[in-house]
Amino acid sequence: MSLGPRRPVAPACTLCGEPAVIHQRHTGRFLCGTHLIADMEQRVSETIVSRQQIVPGDCVAVGLSGGKDSTALLLLLHHLFGSRNDIRLVAVTVDEGIDGYREATARSAEGLVRRLGVTHITVSFGELFGDTLDTILKGHKTQACSICGILRKKALVTGAERAGATKLATGHNLDDEAQSVLMNVLRGDLMRLVRNSGADSGGRFIPRVKPLMYVQEKEIATYLMVQGVWEDLPECPYAIHALRREVRSMLSELEYRHPGTMLRLLENKKKIETAFSGNTGGEPVGRCRECGDPCSGRTCQLCRIRHSLLH
Ligand code: SF4
Ligand code: ZN
Repeated sequence: MSLGPRRPVAPACTLCGEPAVIHQRHTGRFLCGTHLIADMEQRVSETIVSRQQIVPGDCVAVGLSGGKDSTALLLLLHHLFGSRNDIRLVAVTVDEGIDGYREATARSAEGLVRRLGVTHITVSFGELFGDTLDTILKGHKTQACSICGILRKKALVTGAERAGATKLATGHNLDDEAQSVLMNVLRGDLMRLVRNSGADSGGRFIPRVKPLMYVQEKEIATYLMVQGVWEDLPECPYAIHALRREVRSMLSELEYRHPGTMLRLLENKKKIETAFSGNTGGEPVGRCRECGDPCSGRTCQLCRIRHSLLH
């Protein structure tokens, strides 16, 4: 009697024996959906508490692009703090004006805040800089992410200030953080790692926090699928020009072959921060003479973009 082709059997969750949805290669564990959710909530909560990212009395502006990282961030923060009276969450979405991309993610963000009942603020490049990113980037597409990154940061801080926020939380995950460490090394700009990443727009200083900094991208994607909120959204059309894209695929390969690579890169960042704490390595952080934002030269990057690209 033929038994036919064998179906592959899903590995069992290391903690309960139910079918696993993910293999956490850095811990060697297989986890089912329930234990993945519990593990993520616990790790994010530990990151927040141990680094004092969010404390009673905080109003947290949550950067919500509508993509998977920021969606998971808002879901997790809402789970942890949604019923607390002493911590307030406000979602801030930046509309860069990217045709065929931002509409879909903005719709996803809108649906999420409505479902969770979270206050939502949107800041657009058009309103803040007088043009959409698509217009600003005409003739400068290869620099898209550098230009967009500077403008986005300003827009997020503006949203956080409008919300009256005391913290600005972003959805950067372990992959993003490890990629940034490597990119700074590749660009020869190691000192950027030790610069304060707070959000200061020349007025009130709003510390920036990254509760997902120890969570891998694939854990976030699986978490959203298990929660039933996964959406296949389009990728930003300018991402193909980014150095990050190449670094990302190289690091994913390294992480697969040598689990823990990304965590070790982040550990290195911490060592450098500790070694340079209180010392910006000879690069004094002053103030831009035009707008007052912190910068290491006379004029900040945003003002330089204003002069060369904005009208
Ligand atoms: Fe901006 Fe680059 Fe992100 Fe697109 S991929 S939204 S251009 S930073
Ligand atoms: Zn400036």
